[in-house]
Amino acid sequence: MTIRNIGVLTSGGDSPGMNAAIRAVVRTSIYNGINVFGIRHGYQGMIDGDINSLLTTDVSNIIQRGGTILKTARSKDFMTAEGRAKAYAALKSHNIDGLILIGGDGTFRGAVKFFEEHTIPAVGLPGTIDKDLAGTDFTIGFDTAVNTAVSAIDKIRDTAEAHDRVFVIELMGRDAGYIALNSGIACGAEDILIPETATHIEEVLNRIEADGKRKKTVQIIVVAEGDDFGGAAEVYNAIRKRLPELDVRTCVLGHIQRGGSPSFADRVLASRLGHAAVNALITGNTQVMAGVVNDRVVFTPFDKVVKGNTPISPDMIDMIRVLSV
Ligand code: ATP
Repeated sequence: MTIRNIGVLTSGGDSPGMNAAIRAVVRTSIYNGINVFGIRHGYQGMIDGDINSLLTTDVSNIIQRGGTILKTARSKDFMTAEGRAKAYAALKSHNIDGLILIGGDGTFRGAVKFFEEHTIPAVGLPGTIDKDLAGTDFTIGFDTAVNTAVSAIDKIRDTAEAHDRVFVIELMGRDAGYIALNSGIACGAEDILIPETATHIEEVLNRIEADGKRKKTVQIIVVAEGDDFGGAAEVYNAIRKRLPELDVRTCVLGHIQRGGSPSFADRVLASRLGHAAVNALITGNTQVMAGVVNDRVVFTPFDKVVKGNTPISPDMIDMIRVLSV
């Protein structure tokens, strides 16, 4: 089937590099003589028919911008069969015969559900800061989010050093600890608490106490928001209760991790995957997510993407304490 009209949307949490991906999708489509429609506010915009033609000039000067010019949303309506039927009708009314979906695991879970009921060729791009998707070594936005966290933690360490303080820093990651793990290692954190490994708070407290006794008075404890023990507030309370003599502070980095100009790595990844996704749609390689594995573009079926996640390398966990000795 020849694709003539592609619809592109960004969905779920925004991530830096989504604009670079939209630009690559629009320009590769137009290069191949295909019309492109931007669907605003993710699946909700599909349901509401918030769909507009995109020209090559509409994506000028956005490769360096965070956020998404198409806006994004979480859509309750798309969780219902009626909502998905409305979305399909809106696509048909614009003669859209191919879709590019840029989002995270929820977006692809929605895609699987949508394609059980309606037939339209689609290719996905991993647009999430969380890096919690199978089928790709990196996701668009992860590198930038980690760099943002690293620069913030470096600043916090300066002030922690000046006052001999223990800092508990909470980073994003409801289900995945990749941001916390990578930022923590890059900043020499004394401990890193992530959802993928069970947190034994007594052991954490013992280590903080032992470090204090050997005059390691500055400690950075990085915790992912979805850690099984809790976030920064819970860890802070546990430290205060057991070690009241310590000067402990918390910092919840929050949405700063989502914004900002994408790093070169995210711009290149987004450009490669946007270009590859349109080419895949053209050649009929569909209902897959484009990813990069070992620096090669690969395509993984949506249902495999939502079922799996690359496990965290054990060597990274093992070295946390070794390197903070
Ligand atoms: P991030 O990882 O950045 O949070 P995400 O894509 O995982 O991004 P979600 O909010 O989980 O973000 O999912 C995006 C949207 O996909 C949801 O708001 C919903 O509309 C749709 N969706 C998710 N799961 C399903 C499902 N099981 N059935 C139908 N639609 C779904």
